[in-house]
Amino acid sequence: MKQRLSAAGLGEIADKLHAGERLSFDDGVRLFDCPDLLAVGWLANQERERKHAGRTYYNFNIRLEATNVCVASCLFCSFARLRPGDAGSYTMSLEQAWDKLRERAHQPLTEIHVVNGLHPDLPFDYYLEMLRGFKRIRPGIHLKCFTAVEIAFFADLYKMTDEQVLRDLQAAGLDSLPGGGAEIFAERVRRKICHDKCGTDRYLAIHKLAHGLGMRTNVTMLYGHIETKEERVDHMLRARALQDDSGGFQAFIPLAFHPDNNQMRKLPAPSATDTLRVHAVSRLMLDNIPHVKAFWIATGVEVAQVALWFGVDDLDGTVQEEKIYHMAGARTPEAMTTTAIRRLIRAAGRDPIERDTLYNVVTGPEAPDEAPALVQ
Ligand code: SF4
Repeated sequence: MKQRLSAAGLGEIADKLHAGERLSFDDGVRLFDCPDLLAVGWLANQERERKHAGRTYYNFNIRLEATNVCVASCLFCSFARLRPGDAGSYTMSLEQAWDKLRERAHQPLTEIHVVNGLHPDLPFDYYLEMLRGFKRIRPGIHLKCFTAVEIAFFADLYKMTDEQVLRDLQAAGLDSLPGGGAEIFAERVRRKICHDKCGTDRYLAIHKLAHGLGMRTNVTMLYGHIETKEERVDHMLRARALQDDSGGFQAFIPLAFHPDNNQMRKLPAPSATDTLRVHAVSRLMLDNIPHVKAFWIATGVEVAQVALWFGVDDLDGTVQEEKIYHMAGARTPEAMTTTAIRRLIRAAGRDPIERDTLYNVVTGPEAPDEAPALVQ
């Protein structure tokens, strides 16, 4: 392998990794330029196995998007509708949102993941009461809700500080933040694809605040549209720098751009090889973020499975009723059973572990894949 790594121009990077040294910006660009994808994947797999051996995580979760009314105009978004009443727009009543959880009383869910459009007319109480209701219905469930973009929007709309918004939501039951809304941190790209929502500095500052309040969060990167490889590496390094500072990121989640039904539909979707490379380079650059997740809804199930040998150690979860990617043309299923997830992890030669949101083990690899508690 040493010879192959040298031939691929990766000898120096391999030596650095072997010595436990951090990779630089130039190293990241070189990994994107390297023609030998399998050599890049081999290095990423080394790092993945050093951190996690064959362990591969997923959780039993549900997604909820309570409204798609949104005042922002991100070019890649197929989910948002501008105004209440526009064709295809919807806003759930609190009872409808809570019903999503009540309907699943029989499922051993550990997490509900909520993200929404930026609705201009809902009161702050709508969100606070939503959280309180979820905890009343299911006291033990982990509430991973509202991207940093939503937190910034709430603060501006309700004339509060970002910190006060986070504190009030936390008091109502919020446990952690999802990583959405990061897109690409570089200003050049943000100005073009998402100019009218929370910028990079504020996104990172909100995550830092959340970490300071004891919450864990994730960070994403939307790839495969107009960003350059340098901007991808810059994005990773900004996430790494914040992690050095506040330490609360649990997972880095590359999100594949999907071109259907949005204003960037002329662009092709990223290829499978690009997806594998992005996940591998993420694993190699982000030495301080514990997990790299392949969101199977976005990558496709088969590519996510292969990614388990390209640095990925987490496959998200059962999901159930995903809207954002399916409105952008994703052809993946909207839900997977835990049995199906465990089988696909095992078929890839890895060890399935059901985790909760904070990576505590719920069901270890020794459990049978068709345990009675699993939903069919
Ligand atoms: S990505 Fe989020 S903020 Fe942007 S338009 Fe879509 S729903 Fe609104």
